[in-house]
Amino acid sequence: MKITKKMEWLLGLATLLLTGLVSIGYSYAENQTAAPCPVVVVDAGHGGKDPGKIGTDGTEEKEINLQIALRLRDCLEAEGFKVVMTRTDDTPLYDDAASNKQRDDLKNRCALIESVHAAFSISIHQNSYSDPDVHGAQVFYYQGSEAGQTMAAAIQSGIRQMADPGNTRIHKANSSYYMLKNAKCPSVIVECGFLSNPEETKKLRTQAYQQQMAEAICAGFVNYYHAADEVDA
Ligand SMILES: [Zn+2]
Repeated sequence: MKITKKMEWLLGLATLLLTGLVSIGYSYAENQTAAPCPVVVVDAGHGGKDPGKIGTDGTEEKEINLQIALRLRDCLEAEGFKVVMTRTDDTPLYDDAASNKQRDDLKNRCALIESVHAAFSISIHQNSYSDPDVHGAQVFYYQGSEAGQTMAAAIQSGIRQMADPGNTRIHKANSSYYMLKNAKCPSVIVECGFLSNPEETKKLRTQAYQQQMAEAICAGFVNYYHAADEVDA
C-alpha cells in the first residue's frame, strides 16, 4: 500500500511536471510563431508633378525610383516581410493645395511610416551631379543612427556584390535629409545611380538592372536584419 501511494504521488508529480513542460513548450512555440512580421516601408521618391532628377536623355527619376521600389517590394515580400509602399504609381503624396508641395510630400511619407508602425524604411532615389563621369550607387543613413549605419553598410555591400561590382563608394552619414531626420525608424536612402551619367542612366532604364538593383538592396537588407536578430537573441 505504502509503495503504491508513493508511486501514485510520483506519477502525479511526473504528470504535473510533464504538463508544465508541455505548456512551457507550447507557449515558447506560440511566441516563436507569433513574433510580429516587421513592416518595411519601401519609399519610391518623388512622383506626380515632381519628377526628381532628370537625365541628359530626359529620363525622369520618379519613374526609375518606382520601378526599382516595386521590384524591391516583391523581393522583400518573398523573404517574408510585410511591405507598405508610399506609392505604387505616379500619384504623389503632396496635397495639391499645399503651399510647399515638396515639404508636404516628405511630411506625408514620414506620417505614413509612423502610422503603419514601420520597423524600417528604405527610400529609393537617383542622383545627379555636374560632372557626367561621376557614377555609382550610394546608401545614406541618418548621422548618429547605429541601426541606420549598419543597415546602410549591409545594403551598400549587397549592391557591390550583386549589382555594381566596380562600385567603390562607401555608405554615408547625412544629417539634413528630411526622410532620414524625421522617419521614426531606422531608415536609409538608396541613391541607385547618377542620371547625369549617360551610361548609368541607360543601365538604370533596363528592367534587368532594375531587378538586379532591387535584389541587391533586398539581399543586403535581409543580411542586416538577420544579423541584428542574432544579436538580439
Ligand atoms: Zn530623388
